[in-house]
Amino acid sequence: MIVTRFAPSPTGTLHVGNLRTALHNWMFAKRHGGRFLLRIDDTDKARSEERFVEAIRADLAWLGLTPDGEERQSARFDRYEAVFADMVAAGRIYPAYETPEELDLRRKILAGRGLPPVYDRAALNLTDADRERLEGEGRRPHWRFRLAAEPILWDDMIRGPQRFDGALLSDPVVRRADGSWLYLLPSVIDDVDMGVTHVVRGEDHVSNTATQMQMFQAMDATPPAFAHEALLTGNEGKLSKRLGSLGIDHFRNEGIEPEAIIALLARLGTSDPVEPIVDPAPLVEGFDFARFGRAPARFDEGELAQVNARIVHQLPYGRVADLLPEGMDAAAWAAVRGNLERVSDAADWWRVVTGPVARPALGEEDAAFLATAARVAATIAWESPWAELTGALKAETGRKGKALFLPLRLALTGREHGPDMAALLPLIGREAAIARLT
Ligand code: GLU
Repeated sequence: MIVTRFAPSPTGTLHVGNLRTALHNWMFAKRHGGRFLLRIDDTDKARSEERFVEAIRADLAWLGLTPDGEERQSARFDRYEAVFADMVAAGRIYPAYETPEELDLRRKILAGRGLPPVYDRAALNLTDADRERLEGEGRRPHWRFRLAAEPILWDDMIRGPQRFDGALLSDPVVRRADGSWLYLLPSVIDDVDMGVTHVVRGEDHVSNTATQMQMFQAMDATPPAFAHEALLTGNEGKLSKRLGSLGIDHFRNEGIEPEAIIALLARLGTSDPVEPIVDPAPLVEGFDFARFGRAPARFDEGELAQVNARIVHQLPYGRVADLLPEGMDAAAWAAVRGNLERVSDAADWWRVVTGPVARPALGEEDAAFLATAARVAATIAWESPWAELTGALKAETGRKGKALFLPLRLALTGREHGPDMAALLPLIGREAAIARLT
């Protein structure tokens, strides 16, 4: 059984990059009949807030990405403590006492010699007496995971074969001096305990993965498969501030529908074209990490707006009924949806149907033509009123093309352009139509 997880830290609202990661985790699980978990990474008590947990849940629900289970790291501290104690006892985690300033100085010395800034493991040489003295001075240790000096290999589902050398990486700090956890070890413990089979996340985590591979081994667990996705860029270049602030609230305010976000983010950065596909099923069906490229994917709000419009054109009445003005029925929606960029724009066209509409300024000839139209409108059968009206007027006045249609559209809708008149006129109705033509 395939198990994926989306693991946000509730220190803010989700931005478009997070949404994309959540979507791909969900799609991969759905594609393979697996489970998609929401894991709230709330070990950082100071920065995690309940309102963000709620916002994360609401955003996923709005997109239709329903988790098959939810876990919270803050409920699992006992478990982390137990694994930590085992690893300390096994010598895999060790205390270190350097201050940030000391570490910084050592890095500078290494850099001066042209060496990589790898932690020198001085803490491993401390004797019990040294540690006692340091603690006597009031120092509290932070804790590092001891990496084995061996090659670290995995076959990334997006990036292909990956190779790191444990000897060239710093032993990562897994716990701070105040006892709080860094993300690395709890995440591994959770992935093991929750049976996560595939970790899908941004490529900013690649070097974390290298160290986490050894943590899985230290737990006697087989590491999951990894897919590290190229990051999104904005129009203004890599990791723009703007992208970091674009979330569901913004998209909703802009009238973007969840289907549009899904259609775009499902394909962005893949070799498949972005298409306005309303039903996620075919998107899920074709989802494959092998189709993702390694180059950053460009997120363009203009493209999203276009996809959104083309999605809106297809949405069935039942999907939007609650969002439409009072009284606007299925026929009215069908008449106008092809002219909308956003569902909310339907209200403008509904006002055109219900009136009153602006009175066009017309020349004498057109005014006479409209008077004829008003008379004809009163006599036609009104089964296909637009075809009947224009047919009769063409025969009677000899007008055709724009000269025939435009004055009618202007009088009936107050506008030069808009939805097909054959669909609009029945909605306007005979009485109102005659009044507007008159
Ligand atoms: N909480 C981590 C983050 O948001 C999770 C990373 C992961 O998926 O392992 O970056």
